[in-house]
Amino acid sequence: MFAIAARRMGYRVHTLEPSPDSPAGQISDREIEARYDDAEKLEEFARGVDVITFEFENIPSASLDRVASVCPVRPRPEVLHICQNRAREKEFLAGNGFPVVDYRVVGSAAEAVAEAAAMGFPCVMKTADFGYDGKGQSKLGSAADASDAWTALAAPRAVLEEWVDFRCEISVVCVRDASGRVECFPPSENLHRNHILHRSIVPARIDPSIARQAELLAVRIARALDVVGVLAVEFFVRRDGSLLVNELAPRPHNSGHFSFDACATSQFEQQLRAVCALPLGSPRLLTPVVMVNLLGDAWADGEPDWPALLSDPDVKLHLYGKSEVRPGRKMGHFCVLKPTIEEAVAAADAAETRLFGRAASDDRA
Ligand code: AMP
Repeated sequence: MFAIAARRMGYRVHTLEPSPDSPAGQISDREIEARYDDAEKLEEFARGVDVITFEFENIPSASLDRVASVCPVRPRPEVLHICQNRAREKEFLAGNGFPVVDYRVVGSAAEAVAEAAAMGFPCVMKTADFGYDGKGQSKLGSAADASDAWTALAAPRAVLEEWVDFRCEISVVCVRDASGRVECFPPSENLHRNHILHRSIVPARIDPSIARQAELLAVRIARALDVVGVLAVEFFVRRDGSLLVNELAPRPHNSGHFSFDACATSQFEQQLRAVCALPLGSPRLLTPVVMVNLLGDAWADGEPDWPALLSDPDVKLHLYGKSEVRPGRKMGHFCVLKPTIEEAVAAADAAETRLFGRAASDDRA
């Protein structure tokens, strides 16, 4: 989607990706198929371009350091280094005074059991490195769970988090340019299934003062990180209306996909503008929107019934061109655009029912 935005504005795009026929590669002028730690290919890639950015957090930050010695990388590699590890990310947030859930970093089974017991159950254990979409994450109900989860993680460090009894989850996707200007997309209300984003609802159905507070926090975090490019900030909204920062993503984010169809400038174009030192576009929301993710599970009985989905002319379908379908894998999404958010939610329910035989609105209860 970044490459589509870039091509539309006349840029040439090169992609470096380990797997053949990648979604970005399909749109790019040139695709280098190489591991993220292939020094020779990284060098060749960096020599062929004017500026480098990334759309995936699990790239070794040493690889970004390597290409940064040849060509500018935006955001700077240190941003990825902080955000790709939950312990470093939490330390950065807490250290800069941003509100985060009570957490502990643990480094052994015994420590995990003792700290989980001290924190109280339920709590959550998450792998420190390379976790996303609930991968490497378990909810713990007892000391035995803590011990089992530690063994299953098979990682040198993990983060234990207090279980948050939240009212809802929201995220703010913002973008900061090289001059320090920050623009925010309106907060998105996010519904998850099995720890994976299922729906984004925009505008979020929250008090405007909470929305404003979330935007202010996102802007302050973007400045503290000295990020150039898109930054997504995920929040828990607690029952008392206060906010906790759950996670950061220094890249265009799934909860900002709605912006492609519903905003004056998409998050992908904002990323392009920021990394290419152009003025940012307007993130203005043009219409209420509900974004629904399409996971590989939707292909269980073969190709989904797209004509049924698209029988509502306000539904926009995006398929990413991933060659292998797997359960839980994000294969695409659709957006439902309607004059009011209530109508958009009702139409998303209807669209999901046409496609999956059931709708997700009840998940929120
Ligand atoms: P994460 O990968 O950390 O974003 O977690 C994925 C999802 O799991 C979140 O969006 C929440 O729905 C849920 N989750 C993660 N951590 C917690 C927590 N400490 N308390 C309650 N729910 C959580």
